[in-house]
Amino acid sequence: MPWGFDYLIVGAGFSGLTMAERLTTQAGATCLVVERRNHIGGNAYDRYDDHGVLVHTYGPHYFRTNSPRIREYLSQFTEWHPVDYKILSWTHGAYWPFPINLNTFEQFIGRPSTPEEMSAALDKWKIPVASPSNSEEVIVSQVGRELYEQFFKGYTLKQWRRHPRELDASVCGRIPIRTNRDDRYLTEEFQALPAAGYTRLFERMLAACGDRVKVLLNADYREVLPHVNFQHMIYSGPVDEYFDFSEGRLPYRSLRFEAESFTPEELVPREPVSGKKGFWQPAMQVNYPNDHDYTRIVEVKHATGQLCENSTIVREYPEDFGPGKEAYYPIPAPDSSAIYSRYKAKADAEARTSFIGRLATYKYYNMDQVVGMALAEFEKLWKAGDRPC
Ligand SMILES: Cc1cc2nc3c(=O)[nH]c(=O)nc-3n(C[C@H](O)[C@H](O)[C@H](O)COP(=O)(O)OP(=O)(O)OC[C@H]3O[C@@H](n4cnc5c(N)ncnc54)[C@H](O)[C@@H]3O)c2cc1C
Repeated sequence: MPWGFDYLIVGAGFSGLTMAERLTTQAGATCLVVERRNHIGGNAYDRYDDHGVLVHTYGPHYFRTNSPRIREYLSQFTEWHPVDYKILSWTHGAYWPFPINLNTFEQFIGRPSTPEEMSAALDKWKIPVASPSNSEEVIVSQVGRELYEQFFKGYTLKQWRRHPRELDASVCGRIPIRTNRDDRYLTEEFQALPAAGYTRLFERMLAACGDRVKVLLNADYREVLPHVNFQHMIYSGPVDEYFDFSEGRLPYRSLRFEAESFTPEELVPREPVSGKKGFWQPAMQVNYPNDHDYTRIVEVKHATGQLCENSTIVREYPEDFGPGKEAYYPIPAPDSSAIYSRYKAKADAEARTSFIGRLATYKYYNMDQVVGMALAEFEKLWKAGDRPC
């Protein structure tokens, strides 16, 4: 006898769990959440490693938003630990403040300076481009070629295995360039991490659903389909996979994470470098645009504020996507957009199915954006009268 639910939700990341929470608590619906990993939370999952350090398993996740609505929504399930996310770039044998700001400029020219002098220098260096259409143009038109090559070109090549010229302007254009001393990585008004971690936040979202939700881990939804009756599917997996790759394979970038942990005794020799007791490196994230095969080393304890004597760093190696690899980043480029537009037409025509989240819409969305997308989708379904019997 098949299991009966109002909604089948594929994926237990931010998109899937926001939908599950809204549909159960606001619409009184029942939901089955199917997740093929062995945990909830999708890419935002975090956990305590064997050394007692809270780590972000799938790369650092810096929560930020300009939306009071999204912040209020998530605040039902977590308290927040405010963070000014700070990063550095290691290149030419030194740590540099990054994103580029007045401090970076002073290090570059080797003496103190002013915002006016920096603006005048950038005006001289920048290469005029009427409307930047790719990631190289968007940076050289702001800072010129030398700073572009020092901080952006190598990082982008490693990360995407494509020249910045072949990538949409949005990839590098996300990074601010400032002539003041604001050295925060991000610009959004609200920047904070869930005080007890992301996984705890997700657990609280599910707890709010009560017994209207069932979560099935370690299961691909296609294995489950023959055994479940439902009215509507919420799909947050890769859109090309849903349609059996009928329009071709969408390209993705994958990543390999290599963690290394240190005891307090092992950290002592690094303390002159890190500048802080109990840390391996001087900032939460250090980018390596021109050295090594990895793009960055993250020591997330700087951001979580965890009081723990050990520390863990994670080296992040970009990899090609293929069998057995996770599809982390949709590639924002004209060729992939052309393939996606064919899938989008199919997705729009698919009855009783909502495609939401980063993979189902093939777009580099941040966490707050996918929460916003899920809230909007819930309202759309609700207004359309798609209510459980
Ligand atoms: C390395 C990295 C760093 C990031 N850093 C940030 C950051 O600093 N700040 C920020 O705001 N955002 C960041 N993001 C983006 C953030 O991860 C996403 O916005 C968010 O996780 C998207 O949530 P989602 O639910 O759409 O997708 P996901 O979190 O990917 O969840 C989708 C889930 O669906 C499951 N699934 C897929 N197919 C199937 C199937 N057939 N059957 C069952 N389950 C399936 C997957 O296993 C996955 O768990 C980062 C992403 C990456 C990869």
